[in-house]
Amino acid sequence: MSREPAVPCVWSEATLSHRPDREVWIGLAMDGSEVPERVSVIAQALRQADHRLIEAVEHPDACLTTVHSEELIRHLSTAYDAWVDGGFVEHGQDRVIPYFFPTEVMLGGIPRTDAASVHARAGQFCYDTMTTLGPGSWEAIRAAADCALTAADLVLSGDARRAYALCRPPGHHATEGAFGGSCYLNNAALAAQALVDGGHRRVAIIDVDAHHGNGTAAIFYRRADVFYGSVHVDPGAGWFPHVVGHRSETGLGPGHGTTQNHTLAPGSGDEDFLKAVRLLAESAVRHGATALVVSLGVDAAADDPESPLEVSRAGYGRAGRVLLGDLGLPTVVVQEGGYHLPTLGSLVTSFLAGREVS
Ligand SMILES: [Zn+2]
Repeated sequence: MSREPAVPCVWSEATLSHRPDREVWIGLAMDGSEVPERVSVIAQALRQADHRLIEAVEHPDACLTTVHSEELIRHLSTAYDAWVDGGFVEHGQDRVIPYFFPTEVMLGGIPRTDAASVHARAGQFCYDTMTTLGPGSWEAIRAAADCALTAADLVLSGDARRAYALCRPPGHHATEGAFGGSCYLNNAALAAQALVDGGHRRVAIIDVDAHHGNGTAAIFYRRADVFYGSVHVDPGAGWFPHVVGHRSETGLGPGHGTTQNHTLAPGSGDEDFLKAVRLLAESAVRHGATALVVSLGVDAAADDPESPLEVSRAGYGRAGRVLLGDLGLPTVVVQEGGYHLPTLGSLVTSFLAGREVS
């Protein structure tokens, strides 16, 4: 695999413009780990590994509503301006953070109206208090989607057998109509849908981020054409997204059998991680996939502050060999999580090379 040509890598400087600044976690404002420097260190490592960096191409908004509701797109693109107009910024509340969440149990079956004020509307779309919107957020969110869609274009046109999208912010926690978990638009789902629309009747998404991609899973849960498989730390052990991502979830209706979750106990390392990756690759083949999307989170790495998993750089290299080398499908690799800046770049380049790269 090391003789394969370098993977074209799509990026956009605009992805740096999202500055969450902080995340409110269990009532306290804390420094967030989803920082713009993540893009800088990955881009630098890609250049050092002789990958070709390509600018993302702008895609029309119609490409976003293939997997997201128009209401979500409208909220994400307008909420910060409405927040400024509402006078919050001048009172020191300089990020859109919801305080009110109209859940099904609150409503008890009473149909709800849309909240008139932006500070209440925020909780109709954002399901946690960690995923803030500020100046420059929408520009970056939109650019991340364009990275994923441009990478899908490269693979669909045959210009590349494999392409990597340096998406930031990440996307796999974003559902059709809601966002959270530092994710806003679901970049991997957009890429998978683009592959379907481009002629691949069966597509597989394999998610190796340390956390379950609840957004991607929900978007395709009732669909027969797109397989979603994930290996992640067990939500039942107390980890995000807490209430979904269990082994018992296998899809619904026409999608029955097209969802697969492999949960790992905290402290799991290469052996358990790679066993799950191999099983997911076998399932993608059984699904009859002719194209693959990899949700490449590297936060399962031992050094990462956001998960208790202990995967090594060599382990990510071997996962890349399985998914990019052995599986051999046209593949779009989409960046998800990964927060330990000193090792982030080499984890990504090791995966793309199919072997450990220091
Ligand atoms: Zn993650």
